[in-house]
Amino acid sequence: MAASSSNNSAPVKHEVISTFDGRAVFTCSTCTAVLALQDEVISKSFSGREGRGYLVHSAVNVSLGKHEDRPLLTGVHTVCDVFCTGCDERVGWYYVKASDEGQKYKEGEWKYLLEKERLTKENGWS
Ligand SMILES: [Zn+2]
Repeated sequence: MAASSSNNSAPVKHEVISTFDGRAVFTCSTCTAVLALQDEVISKSFSGREGRGYLVHSAVNVSLGKHEDRPLLTGVHTVCDVFCTGCDERVGWYYVKASDEGQKYKEGEWKYLLEKERLTKENGWS
């Protein structure tokens, strides 16, 4: 028997959150999916090799690429690329671990670094 190859199943459409009760959020500049809440922002002035960004505790509507070690300004970090699930654009990185004890941010804590150019601020940022 040949494997079923019926084409009656619609392509998977990602359902994304595009509002967050009017709270201040970052949305994807490509598809407007909410990516993070302002409340989750740790640093608004992170500078990386590939530009400015925001460090946040958590993010929504994102998926992670494969882990790789990458040299950043603050040392070698294990990072993943972060993709928006609404449009599959890369929107930043996920830090797995800092290798340098002198880090401002505690080793072992996982953070999202969302790139400034990929984001839109919504709902009255303070
Ligand atoms: Zn998007």
